[in-house]
Amino acid sequence: MSKIEVDKEKCIGCGACTAVAPDTFEFDDDGLAKAVKDEITDDVKLAAEGCPTEAITVE
Ligand code: SF4
Repeated sequence: MSKIEVDKEKCIGCGACTAVAPDTFEFDDDGLAKAVKDEITDDVKLAAEGCPTEAITVE
């Protein structure tokens, strides 16, 4: 089973992941990103690699 998680302790709300993979990442009410899907697409992998604080975990 795939799983995508954003570590809110690390996320700085930069918006890179929501720009790269808008179907999967949205801003939560606290202004930080959250994953709204579990499917690991190429865009999700790119977003995880591109996150400046390495807050995104993909399993
Ligand atoms: S790219 Fe990383 S730091 Fe930026 S909003 Fe997404 S999870 Fe947060």
